[in-house]
Amino acid sequence: MKLSVKAPAKINLSLDVLHKRDDGYHEVKMVMTTIDLADRVELTELEEDKISLESSGGYVPSDNRNLAFQAAELLKKEFNLTNGVHIVIDKQIPVSAGLAGGSSDAAATLKGLNQLWDLGLSLDELADLGAKIGSDVSFCVYGGTALATGRGERIESIQAPPPCWVILAKPSIGVSTADVYRKLKIKEVEHPDTHSMLEAIEDKDYDRICSTLGNVLESVTLKDHPEVLHIKKQMTRLGAEGVLMSGSGPTVFGLTVHDTRAQRIYNGLRGFCNEVYMVRMLGESE
Ligand code: ATP
Repeated sequence: MKLSVKAPAKINLSLDVLHKRDDGYHEVKMVMTTIDLADRVELTELEEDKISLESSGGYVPSDNRNLAFQAAELLKKEFNLTNGVHIVIDKQIPVSAGLAGGSSDAAATLKGLNQLWDLGLSLDELADLGAKIGSDVSFCVYGGTALATGRGERIESIQAPPPCWVILAKPSIGVSTADVYRKLKIKEVEHPDTHSMLEAIEDKDYDRICSTLGNVLESVTLKDHPEVLHIKKQMTRLGAEGVLMSGSGPTVFGLTVHDTRAQRIYNGLRGFCNEVYMVRMLGESE
């Protein structure tokens, strides 16, 4: 049997880091939402007891360094399964971009194999398993829009923000998430107002959502990579109503409700950034 699962990217509307915990993880508070930019994960049952993986587009590992591979491995180990699977990832989400591409592939694999292997696990159970692979996997299991706390694995789903265009631009630089967290000076930087963001979403107040966007990790990435700040300025100059870096970067997204403005921002950015996308905010889990 064969199954194909959509694996959407996420953006952070708000990302705060509260403190470093004794276990080495950071305590975070994030508002995340899915966007209509997605990988496709195709799962084919194998007769033999093995996992294989191939991926198109962008360099991603095809062994157990791949988070989708780890998801299949985890299910086999947890439930003592001898099932085999061949995983094909059609990569559309830029890699190492702050858009949780790998985590979303892992979540799609968990959900798909739950069906393919008839495991009968609930979304909550899949999200708990996902947390063992990576902090963003739990959110990706639920999708939609959520407040994520703990190290990012405690998910409270909330309603979707009002629909709008999301223009994403990723400069061709590599950003190490671990590095960004290490360099973050939690006590010295300005923190986003998560509560206000949650209220703005609850009130469906698009303007307030735009003015409340905030990501504490910008304090590190923008300093190390001025090109990210440059893209933010261009997005604003081209008319985006709200602009923010997603995750630890380097992708920047701009929001607009206006069709022609969205096209203008997209065209304007393509001039000096070769990875630019124009998609809809999904917000609702599918
Ligand atoms: P993070 O913030 O955790 O770095 P990200 O969203 O910025 O995540 P990803 O695209 O998930 O970035 O990739 C981060 C790293 O994970 C890359 O080094 C990549 O090689 C590895 N990786 C493992 N599995 C995948 C996958 N299925 N898709 C993309 N990258 C993957």
